[in-house]
Amino acid sequence: MADAEASGVLGLLDRLSAGPVICAEGYLFELERSGYVAAGPYVPEAVLDHPDAVIQLHRDFLRAGSDVMLAFTYYAHREKLRLIGKEGALEELNRTAIRLAREVAREGEALVAGNVCNSNIFVDGEAESARRVRAMFDEQVGWAVDEGVDFIVAETISYVSEALLALEAIKEAGLPAVINLAIFRDPLTREGLTPAQACKRLEDAGADVVGLNCARGPATMLPLLGEIREAVSCHVAALPVAYRTSEDEPTFLSLSDSECACIPEERPFPTALDPFTCNRYEIAEFTKDARALGVNYLGVCCGAAPHHIRSMAEALGRQPPASRYSPDMTRHAYLGTVDEIPAANRSFARYL
Ligand SMILES: [Zn+2]
Repeated sequence: MADAEASGVLGLLDRLSAGPVICAEGYLFELERSGYVAAGPYVPEAVLDHPDAVIQLHRDFLRAGSDVMLAFTYYAHREKLRLIGKEGALEELNRTAIRLAREVAREGEALVAGNVCNSNIFVDGEAESARRVRAMFDEQVGWAVDEGVDFIVAETISYVSEALLALEAIKEAGLPAVINLAIFRDPLTREGLTPAQACKRLEDAGADVVGLNCARGPATMLPLLGEIREAVSCHVAALPVAYRTSEDEPTFLSLSDSECACIPEERPFPTALDPFTCNRYEIAEFTKDARALGVNYLGVCCGAAPHHIRSMAEALGRQPPASRYSPDMTRHAYLGTVDEIPAANRSFARYL
């Protein structure tokens, strides 16, 4: 029995029927910035080497209002572990990640989600590659089921045929499936389907939630969401990266920075994206806009930090535990407006 069900906490589909669900993501990027994950390989070794760092980030996201603790198994798959010569740690890494997520989920009423992603070895139309990718999904899904997750997220997949393999693995395991596609510069899957066509195909194959995550920021993901919402009748997900993307540079991989001459290879992705980071108010605006379109599974992917998630929760009218420390500029030393702020400081504000 899944963990939430066993403890009487509402499951994913019941929660989605009742209102929006928030799933904080972006663990790889946030833990890279704090020094526990290497950019490039992006293997979540921190689960085994620095579990306290992973637990703390789960806890920060829980306090900020995330309804889901997403197990940090992104890229904890056979191909990535092989790349760093640690295939032997695969099962332990997957099982431990889920236990860490569950430990924190129990501190609130959060759900625990397993996580699978793009295999990086999928070749469209090649049966042998499909067989290998399916086996990778099966083993990760199997460990997740065994550890009692509530549902499984398959994400950042840009071939719908690869996403379908993940979906089959999840449905055969009997769990709700959230399937999120990553859409790069051309607003199409790598087979050439529109996101709406791809999501419809996933819904027809049994996905419970379909949508988009990663690659695009709020500004360039939003225009794709309405078409998806119209094409499907199941729940719709949107988890943009927390970066300012534009029509000319619609993905965080394509961003350029003319203000800085010292970026390696002149590509801000992935380690010099700081000046493009969305502020909390932009995430709140995205949340309201996506809700207005009918999106009900919401989150932020790469670049997300806890303040983004709190802003998302507050935009949905919630007051998560971290709202205890939401801004109160009325008490700022110079910009404050309450009587206790000395008048001399308030009048000095124009010289700041
Ligand atoms: Zn991402």
